[in-house]
Amino acid sequence: MGLFQQVVLRSIRRQLSSLGSEKRPFIAGHKLLYTCNLRCKMCPFWRRQDEKLLSLEEEKLMLKALADFGVSFMGFEGGEPLLRRDIKDILAASHSLFHTSLVTNGWFLKERARDIKDYLDYLFVSIDGIGELHDRLRGIPGSFKKAVEGIKEATKYLPVSISSTITRENMHQAEEIVELGRSLGVSVSFQVAYDYSTADKMSPDAQRLRGVLERLLEMKKQGYPIVESKEYFMSVINSWYHNDPWECKPWLTINIDPQGRVVTPCYVLNEYSGTQRVWETDLRKLWASIDWDSYRSCNKCALSCYLEPSLFSWRNPSMVRERIIDNVISYIRSRGSPAPQ
Ligand code: SF4
Ligand code: SF4
Repeated sequence: MGLFQQVVLRSIRRQLSSLGSEKRPFIAGHKLLYTCNLRCKMCPFWRRQDEKLLSLEEEKLMLKALADFGVSFMGFEGGEPLLRRDIKDILAASHSLFHTSLVTNGWFLKERARDIKDYLDYLFVSIDGIGELHDRLRGIPGSFKKAVEGIKEATKYLPVSISSTITRENMHQAEEIVELGRSLGVSVSFQVAYDYSTADKMSPDAQRLRGVLERLLEMKKQGYPIVESKEYFMSVINSWYHNDPWECKPWLTINIDPQGRVVTPCYVLNEYSGTQRVWETDLRKLWASIDWDSYRSCNKCALSCYLEPSLFSWRNPSMVRERIIDNVISYIRSRGSPAPQ
C-alpha cells in the first residue's frame, strides 16, 4: 500500500475515533522560521527576530511526536521555508510519515523545485495580485515574476496551488487571480486577511468582501479551479452576514512555532506564540486540558486550515468526494505520470 493510501486510511481511522469523546488533531502546521526575503504588508512574521532555530534532529523529534499523536497531514510554512538550507532533509523526514505540503512565496522556487519535489505531495505558492499590485503588497519588486516562474517550474513535478490572501487592496482582483491560476494550470486557494496586532491592518471592507465571496462561490459552482469547498464559502457568508456561525473545531489542527512549541488554541488567537516544545510535552494531556468548547462559535477568522476541517463531515457526500476521493485520484495521477527531467 502506498504512503498516501496509508495516510488516508490513518486519517479515516482518526476521523472515526474523533466521533468518540477524545479530541485529537489530524492536520499540523509548522512555521520553520520567521525570516523572510519579502516584506508583505499584512504579515507580522518577517518583523520578528528568529531565535535559534530547531536543528534537523529536533525537527525529526517533533515530527515523530506529531505522528504518534495521530497527525496525518503536515504543512510547512514560514517566513520563507526555502531559506532553510536543510529544507530537503526536513521534508524527506516528514514525507516518510505524513502527506506533506509547503507554502512558499516562490522567489527561490525556479532553482529549488527539482531539489524538493520528491518529498512533497502538494505545493502552495503565494500570489496576492497581478503584476505590480502583487509586488506592492509583498514589498519587493520582481516578486510576481519570480512567483510565476517558480509555479511554471514546479508544475513540471508537483500538484501546485496559488495561495491568495484577500485584503482591502486586492479584493477587486480575486477573479483575475483565479484566471491566472487557470492559465497556469493550477488551482487557487483563498484566505481572508486577518488583522494581526503587529502588522498593517489590511482586512477587507465587510460589504465589499461579501460580493467577492459570493462571486468566488459562484465560480466554484461553475467549475473554476478554486481549492476551498462550496461549504467553506457558504459558512463564511452565513456567519459573517446572516449571523449563523459555523462550529469551529480548532483542536483538529495543531500548530507549531519555529521553536517547536505548540500554539493553542489556534495561531490566530495567540498570534503564533507557543508554550511547550512538542516532543517534551504530553500532547494528549495538553489537548485534554483545553476548554475547546469555548471556541465553537468564535468565527473570527476564515482560515481554511481551521475552517475546512471543522466543516468536514463523512455524512456529506460532496465533501467526501472533493476532499478525499478527488485528492486520492489527483495524487495517483500525479505519481503515475513520470515528471519530465
Ligand atoms: S512571503 Fe509570507 S512570510 Fe514572507 S513576508 Fe510575505 S506573508 Fe510573510
Ligand atoms: S474561528 Fe479562527 S480564530 Fe476563532 S477559534 Fe477558530 S481558528 Fe481560532
